[in-house]
Amino acid sequence: GSARRPLMAGNWKMNLNHFEANLLVQKLAASLNEKQLTDVEVVVLPPFTDLRTVQTAVEGDKLMIGYGAQDLSPHDSGAYTGDISGSMLAKLGCTYVVVGHSERRAYHHESDALCNAKVKAALTHGLTPILCVGEGLDVREQGGHVAHCSDQLEAALIGISAEQATKVVVAYEPVWAIGTGKTAMPEDVQEVCSSVRERLAVIYDQETAEQVRILYGGSVKASNVATTMAQPDVDGGLVGGASLDAEEFANICRFPE
Ligand code: PEP
Repeated sequence: GSARRPLMAGNWKMNLNHFEANLLVQKLAASLNEKQLTDVEVVVLPPFTDLRTVQTAVEGDKLMIGYGAQDLSPHDSGAYTGDISGSMLAKLGCTYVVVGHSERRAYHHESDALCNAKVKAALTHGLTPILCVGEGLDVREQGGHVAHCSDQLEAALIGISAEQATKVVVAYEPVWAIGTGKTAMPEDVQEVCSSVRERLAVIYDQETAEQVRILYGGSVKASNVATTMAQPDVDGGLVGGASLDAEEFANICRFPE
């Protein structure tokens, strides 16, 4: 119920080689019609090694699907072995990049300060950062989830102007709901998403806060997407496991019907 265009982003994580990536993108595009792809912005987030293939498929067949990466370096170029820069991603036609996914925070010890640098790097190269925030089970059980997510948000946005902030997408992903099959209750999702928007209004202003898209992520499936999307401050989904199945992800993207 807002002017914000819904966004469904499929995080493939470390899955699919470039042959499989091509097949999935083609199947996904074939499963959705032009109206569906206009009503909802559909984006896939493949591993780095699949990006060139996805670019070829999307550009070659003029598919109405966007794509981006799951991470980027905070640096533009140089002696950072194994890293990939925002300029490299932009050159491949990426429009989105995930920043601060809980798996990167956990397995690669990514701090809020690093996420802040990555958000800046993404914006510098014209990429839309999908900034992930979310609490673990311990924090939720102690009732600290709202403060935890708002603090992660604020720390990642240090030095970002209001104009730049309108380009950021925030993804609320409770860690206990990711890949577990345990979806957060719609009212719990709304509680955090509305508090994220309120914090944006405090940091910036109401108008800026109203423009930012806030996604929910955590075991989203076609069977549970509609009730979550019905929440006023939820503008889309960040979908992991279910985005690897073209039919299932297409059904998720068809949620308004
Ligand atoms: C994710 O990887 O961001 C995610 C939400 O995963 P899943 O949908 O599998 O829980």
